Amino acid sequence: MKRLFPEFGGPEEHQHTLPETPRPYAELLDRLQKWQKLDASGENGRHFAYIYDPDETQFKEFVKNAYMIFWHENALNPTAFPALRKLEMDVIQMTARMLNAPSTAVGTLTSGGTESILCAIKAYRERARAIWPHITEPEIVAPITAHVAFPKGGHLFDVKFVFVPIDEKTCTPRIEDYAKAITSNTILLVGSAPAYPHGVIDPIEQIAQLARGVGPVQRADASRVLPLHVDACLGGFILPFVERLNYPVKKWDFRVPGVTSISADCHKFGYAPKGASTLIFCSNEYRKYQFWSFTKWPGGLFMSPSLLGTRAGGPIAGAWAAMVGLGVSGFVKITQKVMRARDAFIAGIKAIPHLKILGEPEGPIIAFTTQSAPHPDSRDGKLAKPNVLVVADIMQDKYKWGMERQQNPNCIHLTVMPRHLAIVNDFLRDLADAVQTAIREPERENEGSAAMYGMTARIPSAELIESYLIELESQIFDVPRDG
Ligand SMILES: *Cc1c(COP(=O)(O)O)cnc(C)c1O
Repeated sequence: MKRLFPEFGGPEEHQHTLPETPRPYAELLDRLQKWQKLDASGENGRHFAYIYDPDETQFKEFVKNAYMIFWHENALNPTAFPALRKLEMDVIQMTARMLNAPSTAVGTLTSGGTESILCAIKAYRERARAIWPHITEPEIVAPITAHVAFPKGGHLFDVKFVFVPIDEKTCTPRIEDYAKAITSNTILLVGSAPAYPHGVIDPIEQIAQLARGVGPVQRADASRVLPLHVDACLGGFILPFVERLNYPVKKWDFRVPGVTSISADCHKFGYAPKGASTLIFCSNEYRKYQFWSFTKWPGGLFMSPSLLGTRAGGPIAGAWAAMVGLGVSGFVKITQKVMRARDAFIAGIKAIPHLKILGEPEGPIIAFTTQSAPHPDSRDGKLAKPNVLVVADIMQDKYKWGMERQQNPNCIHLTVMPRHLAIVNDFLRDLADAVQTAIREPERENEGSAAMYGMTARIPSAELIESYLIELESQIFDVPRDG
């Protein structure tokens, strides 16, 4: 079988046994630096996910220094680490103000968006058990575009997720469909600002009306007011500044009556080191259900705010430093670069007749797919619709762009960062060429990612594909046994 990963110079580079004696530190650091070059980087602007590089050298150095001051500390016990607690409270309160939360707002700093979402699910499940004890099979309603951390949380906490389909044109749920998904077992509504797949903000104001049982669209059992979590893991630290730059942004934060909590990731557009996210509740009346305590452990009386035990100090200090070190004007300045790059991508993609943007992205996330347009080699009006995953494969294999592929519908996803301002024209030139090649060489559909997604689309059983993916995960985390 083809190796999934590079060999790092062969078996002599394997380190599967603890060395008997230490190697010289300088040599080890050299090796680490060499290996690191294989990883995706934000520096060259060729990737469109994962990294969130602010393209500000001095600022990045500063955040790294802040991280290093607390790199070995542990936020598990606030009484032993009062400085970390102070930094955490500052980050939470700054984020709450930024999201226009009421003065009663409280929150928790977590290790990432996934943990923030898991904590929210846990809190709302406990709350439902306390105030609606008759609900034995709780359900949470979310658009199908909500982040995968939601179904993961449903799996972990045994809460059923009811997914609402999205409208093809807007990439958000129709409010009538959303209303129909609410039952007498519903304990929470979810919306995203924006949802990751297409970068479009859900109709939070309308969902909030459903939550409160007011407004033109009726739901079953409107006597209960339902809580509403807005997942702004992606948008929380940039949409406030997009709005300041006078771009149109639908209302989605605590200004919308009915929003009870928001998740927002410092380690995305907050430019913090990885390992920092926030979960903000409008009041402790909700957050208190997130906390957990245990009294029978010989190790002592135990209480814990979130999912982890030991909590790294570095990301907390890094998140604090990034926020205070940028301030509103710093965030606005970076956001301006991001949005200029985004506008250039959108204009360039729209100028290619065989491509179209999905929905109306309001922030820095774009998804695009292909559409029918005149075949470039035809004079009699013949149309051609290239396969968008073939376009992605050509962009990756021939032009060395890191490509993010999506499904239902198949499309390419871009998370736009400041560094992309410098490469957007190169990207669009390669993209135009990749589209032409995909039209002229349709047989490429039978190889690469196009073939893989094509095959899974023909398999009727989701369980079969899911078990295949779990097998694949085992292979990814296996090591060669031959060295
Ligand atoms: C990234 C993301 C998450 C999950 O965050 P992690 O930090 O990757 O765990 C949740 N929701 C949205 C919309 C995201 O973009």
